[in-house]
Amino acid sequence: MQELIAEIEAVVGPQGLVQGDAVRARPATVQGGECQAQAIIRPASTEEVSRVLRLCHDARQAVVPYGGGTGLVEGAVAAPTELLLSLERMNRIEEVDMLGRAMVLQAGVPVQRVQDTAEDAGLFFAVDFGARGTATIGGAISTNAGGNRVLRYGMLRDQVLGLEAVMADGTVVSSMQRFIKNNAGYDLKHLFIGSEGTLGIVTRAVLRLRPMPRSRHTAMLALDDYQHVQELLALLDAELGGTLSGFEVMWNDFYRFIIDGPSGHRPPLGVEHGYYVLVECLSADPAPTNSRFQAALEAAMEQELVSDAVIAESRAQQDALWAIRDDIPTLLQLMAPLLPFDISLNLHEIDDFVVDVRARLAQRWPEVSSVAFGHLGDGNLHLVVAIGQDTPERRRQVDDLVYEAVRERGGSVSAEHGIGKEKLPYLAWSRTAEEVALMRTLKACLDPKGVLNPGKLLG
Ligand SMILES: Cc1cc2nc3c(=O)[nH]c(=O)nc-3n(C[C@H](O)[C@H](O)[C@H](O)COP(=O)(O)OP(=O)(O)OC[C@H]3O[C@@H](n4cnc5c(N)ncnc54)[C@H](O)[C@@H]3O)c2cc1C
Repeated sequence: MQELIAEIEAVVGPQGLVQGDAVRARPATVQGGECQAQAIIRPASTEEVSRVLRLCHDARQAVVPYGGGTGLVEGAVAAPTELLLSLERMNRIEEVDMLGRAMVLQAGVPVQRVQDTAEDAGLFFAVDFGARGTATIGGAISTNAGGNRVLRYGMLRDQVLGLEAVMADGTVVSSMQRFIKNNAGYDLKHLFIGSEGTLGIVTRAVLRLRPMPRSRHTAMLALDDYQHVQELLALLDAELGGTLSGFEVMWNDFYRFIIDGPSGHRPPLGVEHGYYVLVECLSADPAPTNSRFQAALEAAMEQELVSDAVIAESRAQQDALWAIRDDIPTLLQLMAPLLPFDISLNLHEIDDFVVDVRARLAQRWPEVSSVAFGHLGDGNLHLVVAIGQDTPERRRQVDDLVYEAVRERGGSVSAEHGIGKEKLPYLAWSRTAEEVALMRTLKACLDPKGVLNPGKLLG
C-alpha cells in the first residue's frame, strides 16, 4: 500500500494527499463519525484523477469517491483498506454560457455556488435541497438528487447536458455537449448519473440553466380526505400551466408535531385537518399577485377539495410556511432514535400505505410512533419512525417491515438518496432479478476488478 501511495503522491503532489492522523481528524460524513480511509487523495484535475485511477486499477486498490459527504445512505464512507478520492480541489466554474443557458464546471463545486452563480447571471439552476451548501454537483449527479422542485423541472438527471467521467481503468469519457438532443447512439452520461460512484468518477459537467422565475406564489391548504389531495394535485397541475413547482403534503401527525414543537411556529391553519398541502408555483409573471394561482385555489375551494387555506403575502410568510415543512431538526430532536424512510409509491396507494404500515408497526411494537410527509407531487413519501429501542436488530426489523410493505405495492425503497451501503439488502425488493442482473453485468463490464466504490449499491 505504501508503494502505491508514494506513486499517487507523485501524481497529485503533497497537497493532494492526506494521511495518518489528518485522515482521522476528518468526519466520515456530515453526520459525523471518523474517516477510516487509508488515505485521502485530492486530485486537482481530470488528468490527475485518470492517472490515480490507472494506478489503483493496476494495484486492484478500492477507491471511494467523495463529494460533500452529505449523502444519507453511507455511499461515500470508506473502509480502512480503501482510499477516499475527494473532489474538493476540483471546484472551478469554468464558464456560464448566458445565451446557451448552460454552466460548465468541475465536479467539486457546491450546489449552492451553482445556484448563486446562475442567479448572478440572471439565470436559474433548478435543483434545490437542504444540503445545498455542502453537497457538490458531482455528488448530486452521482446520486441523481431531487429536492423541492422536481415536479416542475425534474431531477438532477434532467439538468445535465454534458458530462465527463473517469472510468475504473483511468479512461476519460468526455461527453461535454451543451445541446439537449443527441441521439447518436447510447446516451452514455446516464451510466454515471445516479450510479453512486460505482461505474466512474464524475469530473466535469455541463449543466442546463433556466430563465430565472420572476415571481413565486405559495399557499398552505388544509384537506380532510386523501382522495381530495390527489384531485387537488391534478387540478393545480392542469390550471397552473406547467408552473406548479411544489406540492408538499404533511399528514396531520407531522403538522401537529411540528406546530407543538419547540421551534415556535405560528400555526397558519388549525390542527384539526387530515392533510396540509404546501403548494408553490414559480412564474414568469412579474406581478406580485398571480391571478391564475388565485383562480386555481378558488376552483379548488369551489369544488370543496379544500377545507381551509392561507396564501402567503410576503417573502417572510412564504419562508414561515416552508419552515414548517422543513423543520426536520424538531423531528431529530424529539423522535430520536428514529429511522427516516424515503420511498416512492403510486400516488393513489400512498395513504393506504401509511395506514397499513402504522397498523403493522403498532401491532408489533406499541411504543413505536411515526410521522408522514413528502414530495407527494413526485410520488415521494418520507415516513419517519421513532423506533423506541435503538439496537441493530430493531432497526433491521423496522426496515424489513416498512420495505416489505413497499415491495408488496411495487414501490421503490429509494426515491432520492440511492442505495449506498445502508439499503443494500433491499435493492432486490424494488428491482426485478433481471434488472439487478443487468446492473451487475454493467458493473462487471465497466469495472471488472471492482475498484470503484465496492460494497455499495450492488454489494
Ligand atoms: C439536510 C439534508 C437534506 C437533503 N435533502 C435531499 C433532498 O431533498 N434530495 C436529495 O436527493 N438528496 C438530499 N440529501 C442527500 C444528499 O445531499 C444528496 O444525495 C447529495 O447529492 C450528495 O452530494 P455530496 O456531494 O454530499 O455527495 P457524497 O455524500 O459525498 O457522495 C454521495 C455518493 O456519490 C458518490 N460520489 C460523490 N462524488 C462523486 C463524483 N464526483 N463522482 C462519482 N461519484 C461520486 C459517493 O461515492 C457516494 O456514493 C440531503 C442531505 C442532507 C444532509
